[in-house]
Amino acid sequence: MYVDSHCHLTFPEFASRIDAIRAAMAAARVDRALCICTTLEEFPEVHALALRYDNFWASVGVHPDSEGVAEPTVADLIALAGLPRVVAIGETGLDYYRLDGRSVEAMAWQRERFRVHVRAALATALPLVVHTRSASRDTLAILREEGAAAAGGVFHCFTETADVARTALDLGFYISFSGILTFRNAAELRDVARFVPLERCLIETDSPYLAPAPHRGRTNSPSYVPLVAAQLAELKQCPLQTVAQVTSGNFERLFRRTTEVRPEAHDHEKLD
Ligand SMILES: [Zn+2]
Ligand SMILES: [Zn+2]
Repeated sequence: MYVDSHCHLTFPEFASRIDAIRAAMAAARVDRALCICTTLEEFPEVHALALRYDNFWASVGVHPDSEGVAEPTVADLIALAGLPRVVAIGETGLDYYRLDGRSVEAMAWQRERFRVHVRAALATALPLVVHTRSASRDTLAILREEGAAAAGGVFHCFTETADVARTALDLGFYISFSGILTFRNAAELRDVARFVPLERCLIETDSPYLAPAPHRGRTNSPSYVPLVAAQLAELKQCPLQTVAQVTSGNFERLFRRTTEVRPEAHDHEKLD
């Protein structure tokens, strides 16, 4: 049984296809998914999925790339996070990849938005779903400054270096790998995945984007997450079933708090 820890099933690519998606998930033994929110405007639809289906959960947050949308306050996020089946704050973080001619200094609004999310996560004791692109130094600095280790969370769709992974692990965060892990030009990322202990790995699709090989370039779907698991199993030289079990257990521990055990900072060092 697999879990897709990050997908966007409310995006237009999936309009009125939810039954087909769920059937494909069942056939692929993907039995759970976390539906990720990117704007407050989108939240009711994301939340409705989690209310309608007992194997879907929802996050609440405003993506760093979302511009011209409602700006959340800490109080807004706390209120929505208190609704049933909301299990995470995000996705949030920093994205300096598309600056559109602006300087990094001019992205102060993104950093402030990120801090608002971290404060909401600390106030609600919910984990953070962190998006970081071309901005790892500022992302890690803000997490440290805000004391985000107490909330924990995941660096989703990880594409950073082993050093960034190590720092994220030290902060108690999980690392989530997407279909990028299967891309031919992702040798460096595969090395990072070898380094991250399986006990701290999650798997995701980030549907509708980033379909894993051999579906690269097509619309992604949660039913493809076993392909990410298979790549991870190859890198870890362990049975596919182990990856499925451990990453599903990690999902339960992080987002559903089904056991008392939380990751301790530095615990990966024992596994190095
Ligand atoms: Zn993202
Ligand atoms: Zn996403």
